[in-house]
Amino acid sequence: MASEIGVCILIMPVFQPNDPPPAGYMQWHEWARVQIAAGLRQLYCVKCGVWKFPKEREDCVRLGHDLVLLRTSEGRRRSRRGRDAE
Ligand SMILES: [Zn+2]
Repeated sequence: MASEIGVCILIMPVFQPNDPPPAGYMQWHEWARVQIAAGLRQLYCVKCGVWKFPKEREDCVRLGHDLVLLRTSEGRRRSRRGRDAE
C-alpha cells in the first residue's frame, strides 16, 4: 500500500531595499521585512486608503495623493472626511 506525502516548496527571492513589491503574499511579507530592516516605513495614502512603503507609493506621489503618517484609526477618520469633501 503506497502512501503519498505532499510537499510544498516556496522559493523566496532575496530582496533588497527599494526593490519593487512582489506579487505573492508570502513574498510580499518577506519583501516588507527587508524594507523595515532597512529603515523604510509605510505612509498612509488618504486617497487609496492603504499603507504603502516608498516603492509602493510611487503612483500615489505621481498622482498627487496625500500621504500621511498616522495611526490606522486616525487614517480611517481622515480618509472618511476626505471622501465626504469630494
Ligand atoms: Zn494613493
